[in-house]
Amino acid sequence: MVSLTAIKGMNDILPLDMEAWIFFEQNAKLCLKQFGYNEIRTPILEHTEVFVRGIGQVTDIVEKEMYSFNDSLNGENLTLRPEGTASVVRSVIQNHLLYDGGKKLWYMGAMFRHERPQRGRYRQFHQLGIESLGFAHPQADTELVLFAHKLFEKLGIQDKLVLHINSLGNLPERLKHREALIKYFEENVNILDVDSIKRLKTNPLRVLDSKNPDMQSMIENAPSILDFLEQDSLSHFNTIKKLLDGLNIAYKVNHRLVRGLDYYNKTVFEWITEELGAQGTVCGGGRYDPLIEIMGGKSYPAVGLAMGIERILELIKMTSYAKQPKNDVYLIYNGEQTELYSLLLASKLRDFSINVIQHSHIELQQQSLKSQMKKAGASNSNFAIVITDQFILEKRISIKSLISGDEQVFDLENLNNNEQLKLICNYIQKTL
Ligand code: ATP
Ligand code: MG
Repeated sequence: MVSLTAIKGMNDILPLDMEAWIFFEQNAKLCLKQFGYNEIRTPILEHTEVFVRGIGQVTDIVEKEMYSFNDSLNGENLTLRPEGTASVVRSVIQNHLLYDGGKKLWYMGAMFRHERPQRGRYRQFHQLGIESLGFAHPQADTELVLFAHKLFEKLGIQDKLVLHINSLGNLPERLKHREALIKYFEENVNILDVDSIKRLKTNPLRVLDSKNPDMQSMIENAPSILDFLEQDSLSHFNTIKKLLDGLNIAYKVNHRLVRGLDYYNKTVFEWITEELGAQGTVCGGGRYDPLIEIMGGKSYPAVGLAMGIERILELIKMTSYAKQPKNDVYLIYNGEQTELYSLLLASKLRDFSINVIQHSHIELQQQSLKSQMKKAGASNSNFAIVITDQFILEKRISIKSLISGDEQVFDLENLNNNEQLKLICNYIQKTL
């Protein structure tokens, strides 16, 4: 019989990994709330046309990465979403969400791209994205950057990331730059690789994106889009830089930053880390003023970002967060009387918002206190509480710190003595 395994590049998220996911999700949701972004959930499956129109024909995603298929029941061509922006814009237009002014939306969930799986690159991966729709002012771009900056700070990964920013100007400016770029690349055609020669005609901007080490110094000296910006684009970009300076957010102007998608204009930005090898971009975004109209809506300005959660989790796992215990109390108990007592005590502690792990009595009955203490040590908890018949008789419990090894004994007349329970819980909570 063939063994059943998951699809290549699509991973299970196992219980051991879940702590880090929840840590990310909780911090992200808190931060999103603080900034006043509202959640939107769109279907995972859309008509293929949504992505072709919304992402652009000549992009890596549409050219080669989409999971598309014909619905065998009605022949419609459908695609698993490879990113969030196109779906959100489709929904915003369809549901007339902009009729009473701009909207700040966020989404979080799985995306699908048929790529070669490797570290930080999967076929099913997860993004947190924000779309700020209907806002033209550079403050909207800056607020997005500030959001990501704050979230990375909360997650403790800020010092591993460098913010790169650039402006792609507007279409006429880009066309002039494109001409200069094609001319420059044609003069250097002997240095271009096969991929870049192909892109030279279709999307020369993307040649700037190439990671080929042999092309780097040539690309570094290519004409910069920033030299082609006129008044409006220039002042938009300068305002963002001024606001970021005022907010004390460090950035690097990178004229090679172009982003993979067609629809960006003016601002683009990415957070890049050196610590994840080739897949170093953890978050990218930019302004996409033309998109809503391209997708059939009225013309509204918009700016957004998307972060790759798997890559961010890899960074989180390198911080001290990974070493912190994730549970408050592991309950150790042994003896006739402890069977009910331990269940009741655990329940009382939980009423005071303390997390308690308790293993089943029958399983533990056969284990010595010493081997239970070993289990406690491996349980990723801050404290072990030990209960024995003797302790119950003496009306006390023992609380052992699994970090320092310190042991404290507390009086506990009975389990209805809330004053004494409060003292115990205060001690635990204060030390967490
Ligand atoms: P890359 O250059 O790494 O292919 P991209 O430009 O295709 O990235 P975006 O479409 O901008 O990526 O998506 C935003 C973020 O989502 C990326 O910065 C990255 O963190 C994450 N991401 C994109 N593709 C994948 C993938 N296949 N697996 C895991 N994360 C991904
Ligand atoms: Mg990609």
